Amino acid sequence: MNGYNAIAIDGPSGAGKSTLARMLAKAFGFLYVDTGAIYRTLGLACVRAGIDRRDAAAVMELLPKLDIAIRYNENGEQCMFLNGEDVSREIRLPEISIAASDVSAHQEVRSFLLEMQRKFARENNVIMDGRDIGTVVLPEAELKIFLTASAEARAARRYKELLEKGQNVTYEEVLRDIVRRDEQDTNRAAAPLKKADDAIVADTSGLNLEESYALLCDIVITRLAVEPEAAR
Ligand code: C5P
Repeated sequence: MNGYNAIAIDGPSGAGKSTLARMLAKAFGFLYVDTGAIYRTLGLACVRAGIDRRDAAAVMELLPKLDIAIRYNENGEQCMFLNGEDVSREIRLPEISIAASDVSAHQEVRSFLLEMQRKFARENNVIMDGRDIGTVVLPEAELKIFLTASAEARAARRYKELLEKGQNVTYEEVLRDIVRRDEQDTNRAAAPLKKADDAIVADTSGLNLEESYALLCDIVITRLAVEPEAAR
C-alpha cells in the first residue's frame, strides 16, 4: 500500500482486542492505535458539556471546538488528551462506554474522525483496533482479523477487570452493558460492526489470554511473513 503494513482488528466490546493488539504491537514492533479511545474521548466531552449525544447536530457543533489528540508516553502507551488534559483513565468509566457508542453512531462524526485515524497508518506500521477498521478506515490493510467471543465470555472478563480496578459493578450489569453495546454497534446505520469479507475470524470464547495471543501470533506470522522482534 504505502510501504507500511497495517493490521486491522475489529470485533465486539470485550473480545480482548485492545489487550491482544497491544501485545502483538509490542512483539512485532508495530504502533498500536486504539480507535475506541477517540470515540470515548468525544463521549466524555459530550457528557461534560451536558449535550444530548443522540443529537447528531449537537455533537457536530461541539466537535470542531474540541482538541482531541492521541499521544504516546515514554512507555509507548497511547494516551488520550481532551483540550490538553490527559483523560486516559476517565474515558474507561462504564458510563463513558455508552456515551462513546452513542456518539459513534453518527455518520458525520465518523467522517470527521476518519482522517485522524488514517494518518497513523500512512506514517507507521500499525495495529489498529475498532469496529470498522477493516471495512472503512483501512480497507486495504494487509491483514484483517475479526476477533470475537460469546457475550457471556466477554462479560466475565470485563467484570473481572473492573473488579480488579476496584469498581463496584455486578456481572449482570456488565453483561447487560455488553449486550446493549453489541446491539447498538451492530444495528446502527453508520459503519455497523461487521466482519470484512476478507477478515479472518478468531473466536476466543474458550481460550485464555495466552492461548488467544498464540492464535493471533500464528495468524500474523503466517499472513504477513513477519517474525516477532525478539525472534529476529
Ligand atoms: O473499543 P471501545 O469499547 O473502547 O469503543 C467504545 C465505543 O466506540 C464502541 O462501543 C463503539 O460504539 C465505538 N467505536 C466505533 N468505531 C471504532 C471504535 C469504537 O464505533 N472504530
